[in-house]
Amino acid sequence: MAQTTPNHTQTVSGWAAHDASGEITPYVFKRRENGINDVTIEILYCGMCHTDIHHVKNDWGITMYPVVPGHEITGIITKVGSNVRKFKIGDKVGVGCLAATCLECEFCKDSQENYCDQVQLTYNGIFWDGSITYGGYSKMLVADHRYVVHVPDSLPMDAAAPLLCAGITVYAPMKDQNLLEAGAAAKYIGVVGLGGLGHVAVKFAKAFGHHVTVISTSPSKEKEARERLGADDFLISTDIEQMKAKKRTLDFIVNTVSAKHSLGPLLELLKVNGTLVIVGAPDKPLDLPSFPIIFGKRVVKGSMTGSIKETQEMMDLCGQRNITCDIEVVQTDQINEALDRLAKNDVKYRFVIDIAGKSSS
Ligand SMILES: [Zn+2]
Ligand SMILES: [Zn+2]
Repeated sequence: MAQTTPNHTQTVSGWAAHDASGEITPYVFKRRENGINDVTIEILYCGMCHTDIHHVKNDWGITMYPVVPGHEITGIITKVGSNVRKFKIGDKVGVGCLAATCLECEFCKDSQENYCDQVQLTYNGIFWDGSITYGGYSKMLVADHRYVVHVPDSLPMDAAAPLLCAGITVYAPMKDQNLLEAGAAAKYIGVVGLGGLGHVAVKFAKAFGHHVTVISTSPSKEKEARERLGADDFLISTDIEQMKAKKRTLDFIVNTVSAKHSLGPLLELLKVNGTLVIVGAPDKPLDLPSFPIIFGKRVVKGSMTGSIKETQEMMDLCGQRNITCDIEVVQTDQINEALDRLAKNDVKYRFVIDIAGKSSS
């Protein structure tokens, strides 16, 4: 697990946490030279994901400090390796959660490399050369071109950034469930939690023509969910009567909540044979009662981000339909404050760091 490899000669300014306090401070480090399969990206924006908090605070016990978080990266290509055909200097691109995979297993060969057993993530991973990966809270990134996507010209680079994790995380399970085009077969979709992931899930589900119910613990979110995001229905998950009244009404639920909760009341909302997909990652096990699964023949499954092919599809679709994330842009000296607010879900709906200092807000 060598951290210094001979070709890591490019000096980069970034922001890192150095211990479990999670405090982020400026950090200068090295990245590899641009290899034959690499592109170098001048980072413009980086979204702030809940996963970043878990990593900077070592909640999962896997953090390799110093950690430079960030896996919702948009920027401009400044160098391309000799093997790279898909990108050229000046292209607008994005990088999400994936930095490397084995390229040889059944999943890698079938454009499902996000399920590769050897997957290495954009930060706190180990790249092929043995170096620790550093993420997008930094001015520049060297990425293998196979894990980079184009950002359509019609999308703003700041509001597109969270699509690279929050967006694809909810898009992929909807695609997996054949929900991309409702047509005559509009479904009843539940979105649990109206945060970074949830708000994009509502936008996608509405764009695809489905009936959308937002399920939240916060009554204060109802007005906005209905009026601005276009949700058709709103349920307070702690209101037992309200939840009971909607038993067996939903075809599919995407659960974005990352705090501990019981799946039982949510499962009861599903029709027979309905599916609940977990994309939020609580650090404690969830309560999963057997009765609602058995009596409703229901399915509980997970979904881990998306493949690069799916991510490109999603970006193109967002470009065509003008789907972006609702963001609050912060400057690099506001990262700690933003992380604190994110931990309290005090953001509508995603913080994006203005890495290059190009926004005036
Ligand atoms: Zn993320
Ligand atoms: Zn693989």
